[in-house]
Amino acid sequence: MRKKIVAGNWKMNLNLQEGVALATELKAALAADKPNCDVVICTPFIHLATVAGITEGTVIGLGAENCADKEKGAYTGEVSAAQVKSTGAQYVILGHSERRAYYGETPEILKEKVNLALANGLKVIFCIGEVLEEREAGKQNEVVGGQLADSLFDLTDEQFANIILAYEPVWAIGTGKTATAEQAQDMHEFIRGVIAGRFGEAAAENVSILYGGSCKPSNAKEIFSKPDVDGGLIGGAALKCADFKGIIDAWKD
Ligand code: PEP
Repeated sequence: MRKKIVAGNWKMNLNLQEGVALATELKAALAADKPNCDVVICTPFIHLATVAGITEGTVIGLGAENCADKEKGAYTGEVSAAQVKSTGAQYVILGHSERRAYYGETPEILKEKVNLALANGLKVIFCIGEVLEEREAGKQNEVVGGQLADSLFDLTDEQFANIILAYEPVWAIGTGKTATAEQAQDMHEFIRGVIAGRFGEAAAENVSILYGGSCKPSNAKEIFSKPDVDGGLIGGAALKCADFKGIIDAWKD
């Protein structure tokens, strides 16, 4: 059975003290009211080791928002997958549209990052999604299928078992404009088909596919009710405990 997951992406928000306060509040909220899904928070690098001390032994998983495409060495300012792992984190987000658009992350670079993350025992939350012009031109399946093929199709079945996919239509990220539940379902079904074609039906059935893009407590239940939507990758609404918890609770009856 594939996992239901709600993952937060803090992006470049919250200083260390604010991050510690949010993780502590979330830990208390989820201890008082157990979630029906896996919960992950992905934080800036500088928060990881401290937040790991808060989330350890709880239901909350911890991830980074990126890692380097090099193993180690003279790459000033970069953070390697091994370094992420050594903080106690278990996940890393890769391929986020902001990294692709603002930092020139190409499919080749992402391939390196995915390989290094998996080699270091991290689970990868791999983001894919089309921009508005591509959707308006009806090219969303072609774009998303290409992103999957370009960065993930060389993985072995064993490696692919540690991939979580996040479909994030770029036009819905941080814009307040959510894809409809039907648009999300159509794309998730398509993605599952692409995965079945490369890795087989069992892998497609087992891979969790999260939706991301202006997901909030008020729309999460409807989106999560779709058969191929296994949860969400949450940006803005992950920065307030009550909002993030509201989305986690969307998995409850
Ligand atoms: C994201 O950036 O991964 C995201 C989904 O952001 P938001 O929820 O703010 O649209």
